[in-house]
Amino acid sequence: MASICGGHCLRCDFRMNAEAAQSACPLCDGGIELLLKFSDQDSDRDRVSCIPDFNMGRYSALLPLPGLAEAACGIGGTPLLEARNLGKALGLERLRLKDDTRNPSASLKDRATLSVLLAAKERGHKTVATASTGNAAASLAALSARMDMEAIVFAPKTAPPAKLNQIKSHGARLYLVDGDYDYAYDLCQAAVRKFGWYSRSTGNNPYCAEGKKTVAFEIAEQLLWKAPDYVFVPTGDGSILGSTHKGFRELHELGWIDSIPRLVSVQAEGSCAVVDAWEMNRNILAVRSETLADSIAVDYPRDGERALRAIKESDGFGLRVSDDEIVEAMSLLARLEGVFAEPAAAATVAGLKRALSEELLPPEALTVALITGHGLKDSSALSSKWEEPKLVEKIGDLP
Ligand SMILES: *Cc1c(COP(=O)(O)O)cnc(C)c1O
Ligand SMILES: [Zn+2]
Repeated sequence: MASICGGHCLRCDFRMNAEAAQSACPLCDGGIELLLKFSDQDSDRDRVSCIPDFNMGRYSALLPLPGLAEAACGIGGTPLLEARNLGKALGLERLRLKDDTRNPSASLKDRATLSVLLAAKERGHKTVATASTGNAAASLAALSARMDMEAIVFAPKTAPPAKLNQIKSHGARLYLVDGDYDYAYDLCQAAVRKFGWYSRSTGNNPYCAEGKKTVAFEIAEQLLWKAPDYVFVPTGDGSILGSTHKGFRELHELGWIDSIPRLVSVQAEGSCAVVDAWEMNRNILAVRSETLADSIAVDYPRDGERALRAIKESDGFGLRVSDDEIVEAMSLLARLEGVFAEPAAAATVAGLKRALSEELLPPEALTVALITGHGLKDSSALSSKWEEPKLVEKIGDLP
């Protein structure tokens, strides 16, 4: 297990000791990154390669979480698919899809949820709360059921019904908010302060990044301890992007990989606060978000600084894609690779197309696109591309 030697605020640069690195920055409320120390014995990638179970628990040595290996069954350990058909259609020679739709609640959020729940247990908390566009809440609801914890979630009432149904089915306490995700976030934080619940909300819990960074560990290991050239990441709050970067950075510092991939942030045109800030080389400013990709519809990214740092330090770039391009990408993924992605997840594939057409991505580059959430979560988003099925009564109705 890794030990925590301190925390670092990515907004104001304040460095704190391990005890102070619990939620957000005490000075500016910015997101904190945990600074870890790995023991010599842990710094051996061959030991990891020998672990038979392929789930996020195999990286216990690189996370500061007791009990991770025992609790991680079925979480993470998702396939890295070789996307030959899609690669051919796009003109990419070496395209891989990291299919994180195959987590217990069908999104990458399960990686963060497991680490937050373990941290909550370690601190003696029974109740964990989160604000969510839908997936973080569905994930918290599902894993809390398994781990005997109580989940309280705040989500926009406009969240896709399937996500709300997941939350209700797992028995979480769901508070619907007559407003957007940002409004739900502020309400949840106020409730957390008032009732003393443990917060899972992105930007308010540094353990989210610890869990999510395992997606980078897996990609590197699945490529036989090699970093890809590019990783495309859908970006709302910026937590997945920042965490993916942390994962690759740690492997690089340990000497397990020789390079760090260029990270590409893909945002919806109608929700692009991170890409705006990157392009104009300024701080993150709120936008009024509007996109069908609900999981990346965010006015003010809570992990925006983390995301900006990931783009800049990895020499990556940011891209905007339209809702039409996202729907087209969902269709390509579904029809060419049999992968059913929700709109936010397909945004990375729309980003690949853009990057190629703008000559930002060399066709021979080893490229990974994160597929972060399942299409069944918002299954009618693709309806404009369907052919209406024919009603059949008798065999003579067939052509
Ligand atoms: C949460 C989420 C994202 C965006 O992640 P951020 O950390 O908010 O940038 C992308 N896709 C899916 C499916 C998600 O659930
Ligand atoms: Zn700060």
